[in-house]
Amino acid sequence: MKKDDCIFCKIANGEIPSNTLYEDDSFRVILDLGPATKGHALVMPKEHFGNLYELPDDWCQKAFSLAKKMAGQMTEKLHCDGFNLVQNNGATAGQTVPHFHIHLIPRYENDGQTI
Ligand code: 5GP
Ligand code: ZN
Repeated sequence: MKKDDCIFCKIANGEIPSNTLYEDDSFRVILDLGPATKGHALVMPKEHFGNLYELPDDWCQKAFSLAKKMAGQMTEKLHCDGFNLVQNNGATAGQTVPHFHIHLIPRYENDGQTI
């Protein structure tokens, strides 16, 4: 179920437009507004789960399978040299949007990131 005041619920369900790389009945993958590197994307469920602890196991499995598939496709397309999957839980860990999401961060030689 979506949460009225959650921006990622609105983006995931298409109420706020986004640069969408992939969409199905349960997930949307969008480009991050403040990319760490070229192609930085976010995998988000269309249902609201605040973080990893709230995400049911079947959703967790699907989310990471989709992240793996997207990482493969993006590696081919972007010719990146590596990939980070990042998933923050809690403000202390850097979570700023309380709707579960996985960061897909393509890495390039000498991209200067220290993720
Ligand atoms: P977190 O810090 O919660 O792990 O990640 C939130 C991410 O969402 C950040 O990388 C931030 O740049 C991105 N973000 C926040 N608001 C928006 C938005 O409205 N649209 C998009 N495309 N990305 C957003
Ligand atoms: Zn939400």
